[in-house]
Amino acid sequence: MALAAKYAPHRTDPALPPLRVNLYSDTQTKPSVAMKEAMMAAEVGDEQHGDDLAIHELCDRMAALTGKEAAVFLPSGTMCNQIAILTHCRAGDEILAHELSHIVANEGGGPGALAGAVVLGLKGERGQFDADTVRAALREPRRNAPPQTLLEVEQTANSGGGSVWPLEKLNAVMDVAHAAGMRTHMDGARLMNAVVSAGVPAHEMAARCDSVWLDFTKGLGAPLGAVLCGSEAFIDQAWRWKQRLGGSLRQGGICAAACTYALDHNVARLAEDHANARVLARGLAQIPGLVVEEPETNLVFFDTRGAGLTADELADRIRWEGVQVSTVGKYRVRACTHLDVDRVGIDLAIQVIREKTSA
Ligand SMILES: *Cc1c(COP(=O)(O)O)cnc(C)c1O
Repeated sequence: MALAAKYAPHRTDPALPPLRVNLYSDTQTKPSVAMKEAMMAAEVGDEQHGDDLAIHELCDRMAALTGKEAAVFLPSGTMCNQIAILTHCRAGDEILAHELSHIVANEGGGPGALAGAVVLGLKGERGQFDADTVRAALREPRRNAPPQTLLEVEQTANSGGGSVWPLEKLNAVMDVAHAAGMRTHMDGARLMNAVVSAGVPAHEMAARCDSVWLDFTKGLGAPLGAVLCGSEAFIDQAWRWKQRLGGSLRQGGICAAACTYALDHNVARLAEDHANARVLARGLAQIPGLVVEEPETNLVFFDTRGAGLTADELADRIRWEGVQVSTVGKYRVRACTHLDVDRVGIDLAIQVIREKTSA
């Protein structure tokens, strides 16, 4: 408990009221009764021995969905990113990624700690960069320069406001990387949000990515699981890292079944989360002092500076009214819609935030 209090004091105060609207993250969804029933019915086996049918089914579905030859089930999205990096890169290699990307800011320094790779952070609006920025970052091959081996993009770009890379821009940066002999990786934690928002199928979005993964614990509502996809040779190597890192499972199909359930039932409904995000953004934009970024998917970012409050001050005030958001900078708040928040909850959150910014 002491460590929990150190890193999340706002959630460990016993006097806090129960949560009414949890906009902290789409990771906070709880598995539904129907999802748990699907988990109970899973045909499981020993994954390490290739015997878990529910995991095979999910991996086959994901390979087809992303248009790749093969797929591997992993416990988390972070492990997908790290194993992809370990598979694509050698120690001393350089990865090009947006400076605000998850692998830079939210994976405990994993690229350096595990693969020994360095990340060159690229700049650009809304968590994206363009082909010219990639070209400008390419180095002439020199003995004293780090080999540039991997380009990474996030679809959607989390810190970029949940923005969706347009297909043309995505293809353009991938082409520059491939022409330079690099490989390409897509962090598709919220890939299906991008697919639903843009109406572009996953296999088209990932067509020029050598590896791509999808997280099932964000808006898709599963308790754990992510699937990394790529060529057969890539997945073969990725499996070796899964084994080394202790990510090789036994009856993991009990969780894979939740992910397959999510593919069947929770993808199309992401459109509701996007609609709720737009309603939330419109409501917040009418509150004096708040500057709201236009949402493209289920993430709503807003700035509190004009209200004379820091992000943490506002988050703390509304937490005492049962509304939770996350803070991602001194004045930047993130509110995330998902399948456990309905329109009534959105309206309540707007009302509470309005009251607490003028209080
Ligand atoms: C959540 C997230 C991850 C990590 O996924 P986990 O399943 O939490 O490990 C990676 N990239 C992005 C963009 C994310 O939002």
